[in-house]
Amino acid sequence: MINRTSFSALDIIRRVLEENVKEGDICVDATAGRGHDTAFLCSLVGESGHVTAFDIQQDAVDSTKQLVVEKGYADRAEVLLKSHSEMDELFDEETVSCITFNFGWLPRGDHNIFTRKETSIPAIEKGLKLLKHGGIMTLIIYYGRETGFEEKDALLEYLPTLDSNKYTVIEMPFVNRPNCPPIPIVIIKD
Ligand code: SAM
Repeated sequence: MINRTSFSALDIIRRVLEENVKEGDICVDATAGRGHDTAFLCSLVGESGHVTAFDIQQDAVDSTKQLVVEKGYADRAEVLLKSHSEMDELFDEETVSCITFNFGWLPRGDHNIFTRKETSIPAIEKGLKLLKHGGIMTLIIYYGRETGFEEKDALLEYLPTLDSNKYTVIEMPFVNRPNCPPIPIVIIKD
């Protein structure tokens, strides 16, 4: 049974990840933050899989490293102090099963440091090349408050331009929820 009021963009994305990420997969968490998505991906890829997480803040990298150690996933995770727009330096094309982006600012961190369209869009473009055929990319777009609307507007303008012969883009906005509800998006690569 779904709890209507607490059901979130993250719940939708987690369900998609659970359905699609398999034991042994190579995954990328493009926005490590406090490490919850990295740890979740680690639980799905199992001992034979691997998760590489990116963040530009040392605080986020430290939190994520600590969480993966606490959860017993240290052997299957790597956490890098690096922008997600440089992820193509680490992987060959069509080798990654799943890439997650959870945009916005670091929870319990500085609200003035958040993801920006200038790096988010190049990172998505590069990430799509790294995805295997049949791979998925998930996005959660946060907007409003300190983050503003610039990144959200740019992403929602950019995503429909992706080649429909190669990608299916599914947006799932909460259309009658107030206060700028986060937008979950799934991209499937043919
Ligand atoms: N997935 C996280 C979790 O489970 O806690 C939440 C991520 S948080 C909403 C967004 C993160 O993106 C912040 O920690 C921020 O530092 C990071 N970020 C901002 N710009 C980035 C960039 N260019 N590359 C990688 N991470 C970035």
